[in-house]
Formats: sequence, structure tokens, C-alpha cells
Amino acid sequence: MALILLVAEVEGGVLTDIGAQLALAAKNVAGAGDEIAVAVMSDDPAAAAESAAGLDVSTVFSIAHPALADGGTGGFDAPVSALAALCAEKQPSVVLLGKTDFGANVGPRVAFRLGSGFAQDCIDLKAESAADRIAVTRPVFGGNAMAVYRFRDRDPQVATIRPNVFEPDETGAVSGTGGAEIVQFDAAAAIGEPRSRLIEVVAEESKGVRLEDADVVISGGRGLGGPAPFERLQELSDLLGGALGASRAACDAGWIDHGHQIGLTGKSISPRVYITFGISGASQHMAGCSGAKAIVAINKDPDANIFKEARFGVVGDWEKVLNGFMATVQELTGN
Ligand SMILES: Cc1cc2nc3c(=O)[nH]c(=O)nc-3n(C[C@H](O)[C@H](O)[C@H](O)COP(=O)(O)OP(=O)(O)OC[C@H]3O[C@@H](n4cnc5c(N)ncnc54)[C@H](O)[C@@H]3O)c2cc1C
Repeated sequence: MALILLVAEVEGGVLTDIGAQLALAAKNVAGAGDEIAVAVMSDDPAAAAESAAGLDVSTVFSIAHPALADGGTGGFDAPVSALAALCAEKQPSVVLLGKTDFGANVGPRVAFRLGSGFAQDCIDLKAESAADRIAVTRPVFGGNAMAVYRFRDRDPQVATIRPNVFEPDETGAVSGTGGAEIVQFDAAAAIGEPRSRLIEVVAEESKGVRLEDADVVISGGRGLGGPAPFERLQELSDLLGGALGASRAACDAGWIDHGHQIGLTGKSISPRVYITFGISGASQHMAGCSGAKAIVAINKDPDANIFKEARFGVVGDWEKVLNGFMATVQELTGN
């Protein structure tokens, strides 16, 4: 019987969505008799651990320590030490984290401490025929190809999962029976005196839904020609209840904050619909949106690379297309 350990995240004392998504991902590799457990770390994890007990897992390892406030974000020493100690004791075969700032930093550090393998930003995972081995799929070459990786014999197999790839079904059900046992795990000795600690959290200024969580993302690139058009894109995004993204060229030009950048060196998104205006579709940009279910591209160049990736495309000037599109959306939504 193998143990699959999920690493949930806590923000402001509340469990984030990633825990439920990891629980769904774990179902892909859990065999009969395998156990799925979730680790919840915080300075005061009681409420989040209760929420985690509602996931489809059998055990919640609740780890409390002042250095784990808000998951230890910014000071990754404490969660890394706590998880390494938990893994050393419980010997999981697989450890899954979200490909979030937290998971992308903590995952590889934990794998390094334990001397085991690590795969970042996985979009699929499967059980292998060999006992307790998993295979993970992740984008490579800037998202232009997918590669399947297998871990060597050493456990745990540590991977981060791209957010929103494993989604709840149409009913929105992500929960289990709610009967998971909550077990306190004392990691104080392992954490000791962390070498780094969190001094301050400065919240990123963002309006509405987070890019990583958005169902609809509206993005603009260099083809917009300046900062003002982003206000129009923001209006469209608001109408559709979405989030505003951008290419690096637009961010580097200072037209919009880098917090909106999508791509290899920006954010990874997995919306249902990704609508781009004046973006050429460079591989580094596409690396961040390969999880989008449908890409809609508006570009005046019919040979733009983005049309190779887009499900729907309009060849034309962004402003004309946006005006027509906005009018139709307003008519349909009555806003
Ligand atoms: C290591 C590295 C990492 C990188 N990371 C990222 C990243 O994370 N994210 C990212 O986005 N880029 C990244 N880049 C940059 C990337 O290579 C491209 O330079 C960038 O994505 C181009 O942005 P763009 O599509 O907005 O601009 P351009 O490539 O200049 O494209 C502008 C497009 O607008 C169209 N256009 C012009 N006028 C109009 C109009 N009036 N109406 C409609 N369409 C119009 C043009 O036909 C063109 O296709 C990275 C590069 C490197 C080397």
C-alpha cells in the first residue's frame, strides 16, 4: 500500500482551491488500497485542517508552527523542513504540490533534501505498471511539445501540478465524504530556527479574479500600440468576469504591470477561453497558456504564429474587432 501525500496551501487561515485540485489529480494514480493524505501547514491550521478533512482523502496531517504563518510564504525554509520531516516519517511514494509560487519553490527543495526526483508544472499524471511508479506529462520547449517523464526507483516522486488542469466536474463536486482523520504532526524540531523568515506580505494589486483562477482571460500585446487600450481590454474582461493578461513586450514597454505577464517568465494560466489582441504567439508566451481550453486570436497578420495555436482567429485590426465584440457581449449580457 502506497501513500500519496498532497500539500495543501493556506491563505489567511483558509484552504485554497489547490488542495481540492490535488485530490482530483491523486485519483489518477491511486491504486486500490493506496492511501491519500494531505498536509496542511500554518501557524494556526485548525480551520484549514477541518476544511481539508472534507476532501477525498483519508488523513490530514495538520502541522502548526509560527514560522508556517500563511504557509511560510516568503520564507520557504520552514515548510520545506516540516515536509521533509513528514516524508521521512510517513515515507510517501508520491508527493504532489500545486505549481504556485509556494509549490514551485517548496517542491524542488523538498525533493533535494530527500535526494529524490522532481517534476515541475505537470499537466497529467498516470500510474505505471511497475509498482508504485508514476509517469508525468509536462510542457517542454516553451510549451511547443509535451514530454512524459518517469521517476527512478527512489521515493518520494515529487511533482507540482499546474493549477486548474484537474477541475471539478460540472456539479462542482470536489469533496469527499468528510471523514478524514486529522492527525497533528509536530515539526518544531525539524523547523528549528528557520534561516529565513517572512517580514511582510505586500499584496499584488489586482482587480477581480486572479489570472491563475480565471475562466476567461483577455490579453493584449505590442500590437495594441500603447497603454490606453488595456483600459478597453479591462472593460471587456470585467464584462466577462475574467482577468487581464499581457505579453512580455507590453509589460516591458511599461504599458501594464508585470504581474499581468503570461508566459515562460510570467504566469501560467488554464482558462476555458483565452482571447488575445495584438499578440504574435511567440513560444515563450505560448508556454504560459498551453493549458487554455480554447484560444481566440485577433491579429492583423494572417501569418502570425498564434493562429497555429488558436481554435478561433480573426485577421484584422484589434480595435475594430474589439469594438464589435464588446457591443455584442453588451447586447447579450444586457450590461
Ligand atoms: C527567455 C525569454 C523569456 C520570455 N518570456 C516571455 C513571457 O513570459 N511572456 C511573453 O509574452 N514573452 C516572453 N518572451 C518574449 C517573447 O519572445 C516575445 O518577444 C513576446 O512574447 C512578443 O510579445 P508580443 O506578441 O506582444 O509582440 P510582437 O511579437 O511584436 O507581436 C505583436 C503582434 O501584434 C500584431 N499587431 C500589430 N498591430 C496590430 C493591430 N493594429 N491589430 C491587430 N494586431 C496587430 C502584429 O501582427 C504582431 O503579430 C520571452 C523571451 C525570452 C528570450
